[in-house]
Amino acid sequence: MPEGDTIYRAARALQKAIGGKVVTGFETGLAKLARVNDDTPVVGRMVEKVESRGKWCLLFFSGDLILVTHMLMSGSWHLYRTGERWQMGRSRMRVVIRTADWEAVGFNIPVAEFHTARSLERSSQVPKLGPDILSESFTVPGGVVRMAGYARENPDAEIAVVLLNQRVLAGLGNVYKSEVAFAAEVNPFRPMRTITPREMELIVDVAQRYMKANVVDGKGDGIVTYSGNRRTTHAMDREERLWVYGRQGQECRRCGATVMMRKQGEQARSTYWCPECQPWVEDGEAPVGRVRIVRRREIGR
Ligand SMILES: [Zn+2]
Repeated sequence: MPEGDTIYRAARALQKAIGGKVVTGFETGLAKLARVNDDTPVVGRMVEKVESRGKWCLLFFSGDLILVTHMLMSGSWHLYRTGERWQMGRSRMRVVIRTADWEAVGFNIPVAEFHTARSLERSSQVPKLGPDILSESFTVPGGVVRMAGYARENPDAEIAVVLLNQRVLAGLGNVYKSEVAFAAEVNPFRPMRTITPREMELIVDVAQRYMKANVVDGKGDGIVTYSGNRRTTHAMDREERLWVYGRQGQECRRCGATVMMRKQGEQARSTYWCPECQPWVEDGEAPVGRVRIVRRREIGR
């Protein structure tokens, strides 16, 4: 699944290319969109803004029409100069928005619908998102208030599951989830009632810093949270740029203990953590992780 910062970059690229431009062509392979387009054509409207909200990408057209898309696992937006050859087959095209210079093509987008400002507000399918960590108005204290409010109502929710909940804070995906909990030295399975205000502040602060850094420096989908290994400055493997994600069975970069992995939450997403750096503080038994058998030469690589 694309992380929030991937969608953010996609929205930013779309905004830069077609924001403020008049739509000269619109095509869609989705019947629901085509029907709305027949009644209230997109052509002739201006693209007022393109915005990411967590994992959703919203295109606002003049005259109160909003195209809301969610990429799920497979969807992506591509930008092409007019006449440029597409990198994916036409059969995967779901939406094309043309302006004088650009074609924005949405491929394999599974969730796409038109809204007005009012229907978007009332929509139960499009979640009311929490504040977007990457938005300019986002502040750490504001994020902490949001998280603390959720913790009061959901004291037993596990912190790493809450970090993925886009209705609390929008933007974090599964990689950031583990990386942020590690950096804040918080065990990802701790219930919200045990998370102190100071820890929440750390978590939100790290989340914002990691995401911002990757929007500036990140190329493609690569997320970098760890850059201590200066031997490998070129073409680093994904797992060499991260603290714990994808590294079960290997040594913790900070303390040398074995990094663990365990599926977590209803969606059984993989969670990685260091049991030494992120100690368990609840009454019950500490969660036990799974360790992949690591070949000798991989250890301490
Ligand atoms: Zn450690």
